[in-house]
Amino acid sequence: MLSQRQLFLQHQAQTTDFPLLLEVERAEGVYMYGPNGERYLDLISGIGVSNVGHRHPEVIAAIQNQLEKYLHLMVYGEIVQGPQVQLATQLVHTLPAHLNNVYLVNSGSEAVEGALKLAKRFTGRTELISCSNAYHGSTHGSLSLNGSENFKNAFRPLLPDVRQIRHNSLPDLVNITHRTAAVIIETVQGEAGVQLPQPSYLPALRQRCQETGTLLILDEIQAGFGRTGTFWAFEQFSIEPDILICAKGMGGGMPIGAFIAPQEIMGSLKNDPLLGHITTFGGNPVSCAASLATLQILQKTNLINQVPAKADLFRQLLVHPQIKSIRNCGLLMAAEFESFAILKPIIDQAIKNGVLTDWFLFCDNSMRIAPPLTITEAEIKEACTVILKSIEEVSS
Ligand code: PMP
Repeated sequence: MLSQRQLFLQHQAQTTDFPLLLEVERAEGVYMYGPNGERYLDLISGIGVSNVGHRHPEVIAAIQNQLEKYLHLMVYGEIVQGPQVQLATQLVHTLPAHLNNVYLVNSGSEAVEGALKLAKRFTGRTELISCSNAYHGSTHGSLSLNGSENFKNAFRPLLPDVRQIRHNSLPDLVNITHRTAAVIIETVQGEAGVQLPQPSYLPALRQRCQETGTLLILDEIQAGFGRTGTFWAFEQFSIEPDILICAKGMGGGMPIGAFIAPQEIMGSLKNDPLLGHITTFGGNPVSCAASLATLQILQKTNLINQVPAKADLFRQLLVHPQIKSIRNCGLLMAAEFESFAILKPIIDQAIKNGVLTDWFLFCDNSMRIAPPLTITEAEIKEACTVILKSIEEVSS
């Protein structure tokens, strides 16, 4: 009989040569558990999803409560559904007043697609600008925005009229003109290996967009929902977007995403023709209930306030000649090694030693450190001890 792993490789599509291949039966808090008693401390959080930990009891209770009422009722936006209304209302309360209208979807890429359509429709322009090293998703439109040529080449032609500017380049901002519908940027670049904006960059970008009537779209799919130490990462960079995109951590483990804009911008999706954007499953009520619980956990606890101190502890403890630098914005962290060839065996060894981490899509010499925000001081010490031990074991 084939093992679960063999069946996985045979029947589940693989798009990487390096699947982690861990068998996990249960996950709770910051830990995942394998079928034979293995325990892994999770430093990945499902790529920035499990910000409040795996199976947070309040998220589970909210899901169970909604299961008793209804699952799917109707395509998005036709029927007044309590979980959607409450989530949209609470979300806008976390945001500057102009961001008052929420379109709920199922994933990050879908939220990006919606935001692009909205920007084109509202401005009547077609040009879209994104940054070098950006990652915005895997669907055709979002893929067109990605910074990696490698990633895009096999799928051309992609969306026409997309230009790329260099991340953090002030001179490149002149490429944003009255032709440009929108600039889309990750407030903190995630898959580029945690690249922060220079202090003057986002304000200058904001100003250039203002001057040219271009919409500024911030992708906080990975950086939002407390990950960086503020509810939204943009709160740390003295700017506000015209359109905000979120997903991942938003659902507390359930699939959901959103693009959020002022009502006067969002309203353009219903003009001529009607139904400018449709989704069957967007705003699934169970996902909305989980998301609302997640939002409330982040608001009523100190989890977000504690992020900088927890990140500092990682920085203090992860000192080793093999670690060249650590880049971070809160608990979105990257520990840089010389090369992938050096890093990969360390990651494999760390997993053997019970700490789950990986690398970044566009930055394979850096270790991903993005644990649930619920991680404790003791667990951070445990994680760092294992990482340092794994480096030593691999080097000896
Ligand atoms: N934008 C960013 C910044 C992301 O990190 C990701 C996912 N890694 C996406 C978009 C795409 O989200 P999804 O995988 O949910 O489509």
